[in-house]
Amino acid sequence: MQALQADFTLIDGQLRPDIVVRVDGARIGGVDAPPEGRVQRLRGRVLVPGFVNGHSHAFQRLLRGRTEHRPPGIDDDFWSWRDAMYRVANALDPEAMEAVTRLAFVEMLLAGFTHVAEFHYVHHQPDGRPYADRLAMAKAVFAGAANAGIGITLLRTAYARSGPGKPLRPEQRRFADTEPADYAGDLDALSAQPGARVGIAAHSVRALPREWLETLAALPGDHPVHAHVSEQIGDVESCLAEHGMRPVELLDDLGLLSSRFTAVHATHLGPGEAARLGRVGATACICPTTESNLGDGLPDLPALLEAGAALSIGTDSHARIDPFAELRGLEDGERLRTRRRNVLARPGRDTAETLFRAGAEGGARSVGLDAGAIRVGARADLVALRLQDASVAGVGEASDAGRALLAGLWLGGHPRLVSEVWVGGRLVIEDGVHPGWDSALAAYANVARTVWT
Ligand SMILES: [Zn+2]
Repeated sequence: MQALQADFTLIDGQLRPDIVVRVDGARIGGVDAPPEGRVQRLRGRVLVPGFVNGHSHAFQRLLRGRTEHRPPGIDDDFWSWRDAMYRVANALDPEAMEAVTRLAFVEMLLAGFTHVAEFHYVHHQPDGRPYADRLAMAKAVFAGAANAGIGITLLRTAYARSGPGKPLRPEQRRFADTEPADYAGDLDALSAQPGARVGIAAHSVRALPREWLETLAALPGDHPVHAHVSEQIGDVESCLAEHGMRPVELLDDLGLLSSRFTAVHATHLGPGEAARLGRVGATACICPTTESNLGDGLPDLPALLEAGAALSIGTDSHARIDPFAELRGLEDGERLRTRRRNVLARPGRDTAETLFRAGAEGGARSVGLDAGAIRVGARADLVALRLQDASVAGVGEASDAGRALLAGLWLGGHPRLVSEVWVGGRLVIEDGVHPGWDSALAAYANVARTVWT
């Protein structure tokens, strides 16, 4: 058992001073309990629940810095970025996948993420034939997470076509399964791996025909279900042309929506689609740094919140890995879109509280993880942030210190504030250092040289 006492601790959306948090094994055993035994004093620090990265394709970190130049004669948009992504996706074998995902996961821990929902879609050999072990690539991702020390929910992705009436392109073959039964078999086999947390991902209504979506909706169990939803206007238009309805309407009609469902992006929703997500208590996972990097557009977050949907954040393509930037992006996008301020504040709830809840609680809920808040019984996924930094210096010097500090952290926070990180009670970052950084970087750099030379 250990006990932690920071200057401030985030409890139920508020920063409270001098709380003692007891950690029993992997779980929080006491909050504000009288200290028993030695208390580790986290001086000059704030203790918050670990952030949950609700949407990640970890291998795409290899694209960082590689797609920010406009090729001559090309009007650059999402689809030209996707071509570069395919080059990377087709260059990796299981060993390279482990190396690349490990570095991405270590970077996530250094930034304050304690759990990742990995939307995994590179399954087979580049020509589409399964590996001798059909799960080789998924096991490589699990190994990357275990070697980094981050918690992971692997969302096994279904993918079957390039688009309505369009067969797979050669570079998409390794993402696809021949039959829905192959998908279901792999999902079962992954779920049977010791300690594995697994969920279902429908890549998108573009990449799956109706019968595949029906099969996914009928799968037994209580897995989380995630899907890319309406990231691009082209996704909406092709769905309307094929099905006569918009993506959320189709997913609802086919029975995929529930409180276990997460709509990733939800950028271009039509009237009534937010209400359908809210009615069932689904989550919308917004990835502001990726969505701005790819030029996707801005979702209507108040419509989702008012409908009753939860919000979470994801770093998706890993143009950056920074939960503070994602939180800022949620509110900044709304201010620019609506020309108003404090758009995500709710009665009795400051903007900062809405954002921090999205960063931890919303993501935990979207993968069915008992975490995302500092309360008795929850997983001890915890992050200590240092206050001796120019970005937050002096912000908490008044009677309403907690309220100002929480706002200061979303306005000015950045990964360099992360001092300690505990995943399931285990200390994985100490004084801002991950012990496996050097070896992770060496393995990653080898892969990067091979892919980009
Ligand atoms: Zn994605």
